[in-house]
Amino acid sequence: MSRFFSEKYDMLVPYVPGEQPKDMQYVKLNTNESPFPPCEKAAEYACKAAKRLQLYSDPECRDLTKTAAEYFGIDKDEIIFTNGSDEILNFAFMAFCDKNIPAAFPDITYGFYPVFAQLNGVPYEEIPLKDDFSINIEDYFGIEKTVFIANPNAPTGIALSVGEIEQIVKNNPGNVVVIDEAYVDFGAESAVRLIHKYDNLLVVQTYSKSRSMAGARLGFGIGCKELIRDLNTVKYSTNPYNINSMTMAAGIGALEDGEYFRKCCDEIIKNREWTTEQLKKLGFIMTDSSANFVFARHPNVDGKEIYLTLKQKGILVRHFDKERLKQYNRITIGSAEQMRILTEALKEIPGVIK
Ligand code: PMP
Repeated sequence: MSRFFSEKYDMLVPYVPGEQPKDMQYVKLNTNESPFPPCEKAAEYACKAAKRLQLYSDPECRDLTKTAAEYFGIDKDEIIFTNGSDEILNFAFMAFCDKNIPAAFPDITYGFYPVFAQLNGVPYEEIPLKDDFSINIEDYFGIEKTVFIANPNAPTGIALSVGEIEQIVKNNPGNVVVIDEAYVDFGAESAVRLIHKYDNLLVVQTYSKSRSMAGARLGFGIGCKELIRDLNTVKYSTNPYNINSMTMAAGIGALEDGEYFRKCCDEIIKNREWTTEQLKKLGFIMTDSSANFVFARHPNVDGKEIYLTLKQKGILVRHFDKERLKQYNRITIGSAEQMRILTEALKEIPGVIK
């Protein structure tokens, strides 16, 4: 660190993104990207928008907002777009937490939540998951903290029902509950329909996974118009042109092609079921995932060893060193061919087959 770095960041430990090595062509199953390209309309609209890059992008994202509002059956002032959902999560920490309003989230969840809390000087409580990695919803009732829950959770893939989410929202009338639905399209139910019933619910989604647009950086939040206005206050105080014109245009294209979206999600779900079945046959112990990844450990082989051996074989999965997670690997569900390569590679690891 330089001698100029503000002391307010003395304790800040940045988020570590999944590795992106370039030394060889990996089968990349470590960052929950889609194996499929974005839909053609998204690419086509982005190309058209590229011809007008001399102009600033629309800070109000009007065309995208109109398309999305119709798509989700909400009003235009009930949605805000951001540069990936990471940006809206940060905005939510800025807008709805401070030293008097701490944050709360599970001890095992998306690793960026504690980083955003630290970045913004927000105290936080990490609430332990149960032994089976599920969330005990009652732990979140009336806790007087801003709640952040990924649903399905990461890296476990386990989902709560909308009924359970509603219980958490209902039992926190004085605090905002942020439901991060990055993986919702792969088998869980969205809480978007609850936003008209509860003014303390913010639902966050992303184009990075189910809409194959991780590189475009597009996320959004849906909530009552007062919450969205607060988030816009933060946005207009940091980066009003947070979405570039090409991404904005691609975002419209992706919503217009619902058929392609459904086809990609169905394919991932099918490949997840196949992979789960294969891994279980090999003795792996797995959580019940509703996401585009599985979370698996093997009773006879160390988690890190599996990760390192796969890497040597040209397959990247995500390993976490955290005590409760270190026997597991999070494996992104890719194409059928990628999953076949993965299972063949696993079979070659000594100890996987007795
Ligand atoms: N939430 C969760 C639970 C995630 O796993 C991710 C992806 N790393 C994000 C949010 C952020 O995704 P993005 O910024 O690409 O929208």
